[in-house]
Amino acid sequence: MALTHPLQWFELSCAALRKNVDAIARLAGRDRQVAVCVKANAYGHGLSEIVALLCDCKRVDYVTVHSLDEAIACRNAGWQKRLMLLGPVATRQIALLSELDVEPLIFDRETLAAVGKLSDKIKRPIRTHLKLETGTGRQGISTRELPTFAALYKKYRYLRRPYGAAMHFANIEDTTSHEYAEEQLRRFQQMLAKLEKLGIKPQIRHTASSAALILFDKTRLELVRPGLAMYGHWPSKETYLSYRMEGGKNDLFHSVLSWKTRITQLKQLPGDSFIGYGCTYKTNSATKIAILPIGYADGYPRSLSNQGHVLIHGKRASVRGRICMNLTIVDVSEIKRVRLGDEVTIIGTDGNEKITAEMLADWGGTINYEILARLSPLVVRKVVF
Ligand SMILES: *Cc1c(COP(=O)(O)O)cnc(C)c1O
Repeated sequence: MALTHPLQWFELSCAALRKNVDAIARLAGRDRQVAVCVKANAYGHGLSEIVALLCDCKRVDYVTVHSLDEAIACRNAGWQKRLMLLGPVATRQIALLSELDVEPLIFDRETLAAVGKLSDKIKRPIRTHLKLETGTGRQGISTRELPTFAALYKKYRYLRRPYGAAMHFANIEDTTSHEYAEEQLRRFQQMLAKLEKLGIKPQIRHTASSAALILFDKTRLELVRPGLAMYGHWPSKETYLSYRMEGGKNDLFHSVLSWKTRITQLKQLPGDSFIGYGCTYKTNSATKIAILPIGYADGYPRSLSNQGHVLIHGKRASVRGRICMNLTIVDVSEIKRVRLGDEVTIIGTDGNEKITAEMLADWGGTINYEILARLSPLVVRKVVF
């Protein structure tokens, strides 16, 4: 049988994405702005495909990105609404902020001064969001630095004040106890009060990533900033548990991405044969194996060697031996009538069986975010409607 093209692809469900956006919009409520995150190539889904779909979602006001390169990709994909830059920007690229109409998060003086000078030069305001450090120990300015930043904002005639004030939670996904998050919110409010005394009052405040949006009304403020939930995934088991304990529905989100491939070789190995690099697997008895044209270069983690499973004809087949750069070997001895070219599900549903990004994360000792974010940008994306 001839192999059909492509040999591997990601399927993106437009319906699932729409449902997730609707769920996010419902959680956000009518009066809040919705900013969805498309960093890391839209969490591995494919930035241009996801952004093109988001263009039709009325309820999405912003997309947020990590880098200016991603911001450019969003504009190229047709995104005309607001764009927020979460990460740093190189000083020599600062003019791109106004050219692309991108709103940066501000967390260092140099960037703020460069943005101020740019706004003076173009004689127009540039919207910025001031990132406050409330206990994540990452990007953000401390209470001590508030006067300096307030003075800088006032120095530039067109800048005057930040449009938004932002913070990010450190410990909201990994726990069912939310004391630390509450403490961060308190610090945020204190810093905002101090800023106000310094004559700076941002128009909007935002803190809520997916877990905060799902669990905490208090964090939603004027704009919500989820990422992972839009792709149909829960930030963690703890988030899911906390939500369910509060009586939430279990079908809030629907996974957008499935990963499929085809069997490109089948063979019978006798007992006592080794499989793969390092000879880490030895067959007990005669074994039928299928070779799949995917590997760690595509984002199938090498830590799933001798750990992972895939679905063929609705049944699980176990990964045997080490996962290679571009190939993976699975055991199909127990699956009937397997043929060359048969479809294989790496992530997704086949019959009554399902393999999720969360299972891959469990088997490989990581989190669903990392599994998704590392999916290769080179694999073909098929949008299904
Ligand atoms: C990635 C990111 C988000 C989205 O987080 P999720 O957990 O994916 O919802 C929100 N805010 C900031 C600052 C981020 O870096």
